[in-house]
Order: sequence, then C-alpha cells, then structure tokens
Amino acid sequence: MKSYLRKFWGWGDLHQSWNLREAPKFYEALEERFGALHTDQKLPKEDEIELPAVRLTSEDLQSLGAIVGEKNVYHDHATRLYHSLGKSTVDLIQAKALKRLEAPDCVLFPKTEAEILKILQFCASSCESSKISVVPFGGGSSVLGGVHPRKNENHRALLTLNLQCLNQVLEMNPRTHTARIQAGILGPDLEKKLNEKKYTLGHFPQSFEFSTLGGWIATRGSGQFSTFYGNISDQVVSVRMVTSQGIVETRKVPASSTGPSFKEMLVGSEGIFGVITEAVMQIHPLPQKTQYQSYLFPSFEAGIEALRQIKENDLDPLIARLSDPLETHLFLKMKKSKTSFFQKKFFSLLLKFKKIEPSKMCYLLVGFQGTSESVRAQMRSVQKICPKALCLGQKPAQNWFHSRFQLPYLRDALLDSKILTDTFETATSWDTVFSLYQHVLVETQKKIGSNGMVFCHVSHIYLTGACLYFTFLTKFKEDPLKQMKEIKHHVTETILKQGGTLSHHHGIGIDHRDFLKEEHGPEFVKVLKNMKQSLDPESILNPQKVIQ
Ligand SMILES: Cc1cc2nc3c(=O)[nH]c(=O)nc-3n(C[C@H](O)[C@H](O)[C@H](O)COP(=O)(O)OP(=O)(O)OC[C@H]3O[C@@H](n4cnc5c(N)ncnc54)[C@H](O)[C@@H]3O)c2cc1C
Repeated sequence: MKSYLRKFWGWGDLHQSWNLREAPKFYEALEERFGALHTDQKLPKEDEIELPAVRLTSEDLQSLGAIVGEKNVYHDHATRLYHSLGKSTVDLIQAKALKRLEAPDCVLFPKTEAEILKILQFCASSCESSKISVVPFGGGSSVLGGVHPRKNENHRALLTLNLQCLNQVLEMNPRTHTARIQAGILGPDLEKKLNEKKYTLGHFPQSFEFSTLGGWIATRGSGQFSTFYGNISDQVVSVRMVTSQGIVETRKVPASSTGPSFKEMLVGSEGIFGVITEAVMQIHPLPQKTQYQSYLFPSFEAGIEALRQIKENDLDPLIARLSDPLETHLFLKMKKSKTSFFQKKFFSLLLKFKKIEPSKMCYLLVGFQGTSESVRAQMRSVQKICPKALCLGQKPAQNWFHSRFQLPYLRDALLDSKILTDTFETATSWDTVFSLYQHVLVETQKKIGSNGMVFCHVSHIYLTGACLYFTFLTKFKEDPLKQMKEIKHHVTETILKQGGTLSHHHGIGIDHRDFLKEEHGPEFVKVLKNMKQSLDPESILNPQKVIQ
C-alpha cells in the first residue's frame, strides 16, 4: 500500500492550494461577474470512490511480481485510484463528482528496460482473450485523457506502468552538450542534477514539478522558455523505446539524410508504440544573466506586431508572453499588495501620456538570457521595437517568474467555487494570429454565455507565427461535464476552421483523437495505424489514444 502526497482530485501537492480571497480585487471581479461565490470545502476521500474489481488473477500478479519484484506490483485501492485519471478539467470534476471511476487492475513500477520488455511480452500473450492492455504513466499530468485506463475491448485486463523509478541522469557530455537521461525523471530532479554540473535542459512546462521527461517527449510538449531553448522535439538527439517486439533506438547523430526521421515518429507517439525509457537530450550551460522586462501595449494587435518584429529582427527571447486586454485586466487584479492613491494617479498619467486606453491595454512579459552584454543589447533592441508601449520595468515580470508554477492551483479554487474553467492552445501563422484570436473569442463566448469570460495570451513565438493560449471561465451548469464537452468541441472546430493546429503542445490523447484526420488528412492516420501494427502488433499499448 502506497501513501500519496499529491491530490488525485486536483493539481499537485496535497499541502498547497490557492486562496481566492488573498487577491481581493480578483475575487471582487469574479463576484461581479458570477454572483456571490460559495466554495465547496468538502474534499473527496479515497475510500468514497468505488473502483471495479481487479480482473487479474493471483497467478497473473505472481508472474508480474516475478518480473518486477513483488513489492513493485500494486493493486491497492489508493494506487489504482491515483492512476485512474490525468489532470484535465474534466478529470478533476469527475474525481470530485463521481462515486465510481474506471481504474487500472494493477500498477507496476519497473526499474529496468529488461523488466519493461518482459512485462510487454507477458501482456502481448499470443491468445487474444488473455492479452492485457498497458498504459505508460509519467507524471500523470496529461490534459487530454492520455493516461486514462481505457482497455482494448478484446483484452481481459489493463495495467499501468508508472515509470518514475527510471529517474537517473546516466551520462553527461559537456563536449557534445548532451546528456543521456532516463524517461521517468521528474522536472525538478532532472534540473537539480543538471544544475549541479552547471547545465540546464531549459524545459519548463507549467506542469514542470509533476511531469516527466518521458511524458514531455511522448506528448511533444513545450516549456515556458521554449521560444529560446526550442520545444522538446528540438532538444531530443535520440530516443530509446521498449516495444513488445524489442528495443528500438534512434541514432545519436546531430542530423542525418536517411529518409523520414524515425526519431520524429517516436517523439509525440503518446505511448501507442512503446515505452520511452531514455533519451539523449541537448543540454545548455547555465546562463550568465537572465533579465525580464514588462510593457503595456495600446492594443493586442500592436503587441502581436511587436512580437513578429522581435523574431524578424533576429532577437532571441527566453520568453515573450503577450496578454490580451481581459487577461491583462485580471492579471493586474491578481496583485496581492495594495496600490496607493498616488501610485494609481501616476499610473493613469503615464497611460494618458502614452495614449493607452486602460480597457485596451495589453501586458507583454519579455525576457532574455545570455551574457550581460547580449542581454543588454537585446533589451535595447526590444525597446526600439516597442516605442509606443509603456515600459513597466522588471518587477511585474519577476513576480510572474516566482509564481509561475502556482497558477494551476487557481483552477482547483475556481472549480470549487463552481466556476468552470479550462484552457485551449493552438499555433498559427502571423497572417492569421489576430483573426483566429478574434474568431475563437467570439465562438467561445457564444458557448459560455455573455456572463462568461474568455481571454488569451501569445505564449510562444516563431519566425513564422505564434502559439495562442486561451482560457475561459463560466458558471457551472447542471451537468458541467456535458457543458465542458460542448465548449471544447465547438472551440476545437473553430480553431481548425481558422487555420490553427489542433494542438501546439498538449498532444492528442483521447480528446483530440477524432480531429486528427482533419489536422493531417486520412492518409496520416493510416500511416500511424500501420506503424502501430509493426511496433505493437498485439495492440496492447495505450488503446484508444491518438488513433482508434
Ligand atoms: C496545470 C498543467 C499545466 C501544463 N502545462 C504544460 C505546458 O506548459 N507545456 C506542455 O507541453 N504541457 C503542459 N501540460 C500538459 C502535460 O503536463 C504535458 O503533456 C506533459 O508533457 C505530460 O508529462 P507527464 O510526465 O505528466 O506524462 P503523462 O501525463 O503521464 O503521460 C502523457 C502521455 O504520454 C504517455 N507517456 C508518458 N510517459 C511515457 C513514456 N516514458 N513512454 C511512452 N509514453 C509515455 C502517456 O501514456 C500519455 O499518453 C500541462 C498540464 C497541466 C495539468
């Protein structure tokens, strides 16, 4: 029996939470919109949720114990429960509302590739009715149903493979700027080990504290500093994957002209081909200097144009995050410290001087990393690109930096107050960024009603376009799960219609699966199915995810 220091019904650490009342202005804004908030303080208890009976026999459990060691086979209630959901809004609502959840029949914690290979071979037994489905599990932070225990309907049971015992940095080579790292390592442990040698991977998704290298690679994710370090796919030099057919490994070469890239086919495969056990990753020396700056723009469009010019002028920001007017407004309301009368007066004079209307202003956070000279030079260049913007200095951006992993706790607090909230992300070319933004705002508003709030920020920028990240807030209806499904479906359709990609960094999982044909065309889905047939002919790995 394992005990867990994380929430199965919410984000992150059991002892951390977000108190809405600590930011009174933000709280007032919510009450103005949604009426008096009544927070549901009742937390679900593990034993109040019923799970289906374990479908594995004692002989199965013994055989699995012989592979991974008896103490690494868990089929207790708590372990099954903690592996029954990911961290999407729907998952969190279900964890609190439902009395019964689907769950894996058991959870294994393998320590070696050899063990994983034996497990897969055991589960892919030759007789159809005795096969067992397998779900790879990193940190379980998937927001698209990626770790849900969905069994192949012909199989007799399902087990989850928790990979967190594969948590070592195996080698570091400063000469080649690479490190060989096991896939189950969590973000903070990985950075700590690299930082000890004065290196960083530079990959910091908002879920950093509770997600793994393998999960980042499997979902083709992005971090908050990916505008500078690249998305995870840019940083993978080589991947090693255990499949039921054996181990596959891509070459550890910087580039090759040998047909379509096998590595690229494994990155983003979301556990449907095999289990990623390790990867050779590009690493970077810790920077000499990091500096942030904040600006206010007179409009979202003006801010977007400045971001485009930042890339066009060959600047290389660590982060360039532009909020639209509503997000800016809410961001300012989240400030916990009080603003004096004189500060307010001075601020409104500055806005007037810069001809910025408070209702239209948009907040840009920009940061640079490198040598002191290069940071200074790039900051000066940004200043030239943003002559109409009001520079707010370094403080607001530093505040963001220090609280950047806390925001996910806000979602729990909102859901507890019966405010439905979720996020959507996409990427599109500079030519369509603004029009896509406008359409998604209009279409989301239609679905969430006039009382709802929808806002957006540009989170990653490229020479050719940008990633847009939307958030909405609306009152719970009677059936919030149905409400959520309808909003998500409509917004996804709108994003695709307006030229955006189905996902810039969250992946496919179950929730995006049925849109994959629209994203890539039917031939792509056929190719994926054929690849799965080669690498996972018994179809045991992550059934119903990505393709069906
Ligand atoms: C609050 C919050 C913030 C987030 N912020 C970001 C963000 O900034 N950027 C971003 O990209 N994503 C973000 N996400 C989404 C999620 O954290 C990412 O998809 C992350 O990469 C998942 O990593 P994980 O280790 O938790 O994987 P899991 O959730 O455990 O798994 C994700 C998928 O990958 C498969 N998988 C996991 N490990 C392996 C492996 N070793 N081999 C094969 N398959 C595997 C699983 O089967 C599943 O299909 C966020 C999610 C939340 C809840």
